Amino acid sequence: MNGNKENNMNYNVNEKGYYGEFGGAYIPEMLYPNVEELRQNYLKVMAEPEFQKEFNQLLKDYVGRPSPLYFAKRLSEKYNTKIYLKREDLNHTGAHKINNTIGQILMAKRLGKHRIIAETGAGQHGVATATVCALMGLECIVYMGEIDIKRQAPNVARMKMLGATVIPALSGSRTLKDATNEAIRDWINNPVDTHYIIGSAIGPHPYPDMVTKFQSIISEEIKWQLKEHEGRENPDYLVACIGGGSNAAGTYYHFLHENDVNIIAVEAAGLGVDSGESAATSVLGKEGIIHGCKTLLMQTNDGQITEPYSISAGLDYPGVGPMHAHLCKTGRAEFMAITDDEAMKAGLELCKLEGIIPAIESSHALAIFEQKSFKSDDVVVVSLSGRGDKDLENYIEYFKI
Ligand SMILES: *Cc1c(COP(=O)(O)O)cnc(C)c1O
Repeated sequence: MNGNKENNMNYNVNEKGYYGEFGGAYIPEMLYPNVEELRQNYLKVMAEPEFQKEFNQLLKDYVGRPSPLYFAKRLSEKYNTKIYLKREDLNHTGAHKINNTIGQILMAKRLGKHRIIAETGAGQHGVATATVCALMGLECIVYMGEIDIKRQAPNVARMKMLGATVIPALSGSRTLKDATNEAIRDWINNPVDTHYIIGSAIGPHPYPDMVTKFQSIISEEIKWQLKEHEGRENPDYLVACIGGGSNAAGTYYHFLHENDVNIIAVEAAGLGVDSGESAATSVLGKEGIIHGCKTLLMQTNDGQITEPYSISAGLDYPGVGPMHAHLCKTGRAEFMAITDDEAMKAGLELCKLEGIIPAIESSHALAIFEQKSFKSDDVVVVSLSGRGDKDLENYIEYFKI
């Protein structure tokens, strides 16, 4: 019993790559050498003072960190609680994703790789990857579903401007899942010179842990910033939206074992959790394997992956990272599901109350204030994972502005 309890209390990855029962590395044998090389080296490389120095310097001078922790006064008044926004939207390229791609490009260089591949859905991770490849002068190939290439033309143009080659994935539903399969296929064929930059806290071990650690700068900053604002490091609540779970993992990381911090994870309910058009993995998902890890996954009774749906391309993923599956299963995090309509309304509200146009992903996190009430002296920190420039057309069409 005792051992069990201790196990449940650990929310970090263990040496085998598991968060409780989730995680691991379920990969084809031909991928083993690539993943194993990374597994053996990632912690060692990240601990090198030279690596740390270069990573932190780029986060500061290139990304623009620390991102502000902003007290949203008018939003707080409306909901009668103290709301702080962690402004990842102000990072270079407009979201948190750059924290991870900077980390991984430095990792790739240390491992002697000179060719970078990535998958992308909406194109945000593709842009963040193309950006760091340009920065480092490395070849960049981005796999993207043919449908997504059509839907996300501005991001395709950005990647091309930055010098990346965008290859359409023509199989299956021709979206993110298929682009990921193509990237994996490429990596199998190019094991020696290529590094695969995964864009969220998913994939085979060590990816979820490596991505989480690169994103953990978010919670590291929240700690000292909240101390400056409120005289204490720990908020009462932390809120983040979850696609694969990288902005959430980074927001929670340094607070996972602080019992006085409540964690809220926000998923996309699309047209409604029971509508058949959603991405609410914690409610609809069962244990399964996707892209190399065991996690909660939306699937049919015979194990076929269900097509997810959300108005927000960044949350449109049929699984969650293994850390979040564990946080869900153990009850450490409270999961909430937000529909398209609720998110869009919350996004517009932030524009009007604070003069900030949020990414639709981030709008999901903001929408919880309509569903859940907080005490007037509660400190609630929300990860504003990205800016809404990429979503303007969606907002305008939705609101008929
Ligand atoms: C990609 C993206 C997300 C979802 O990805 P996570 O890995 O779950 O963080 C959320 N917000 C924005 C702005 C994004 O671009």
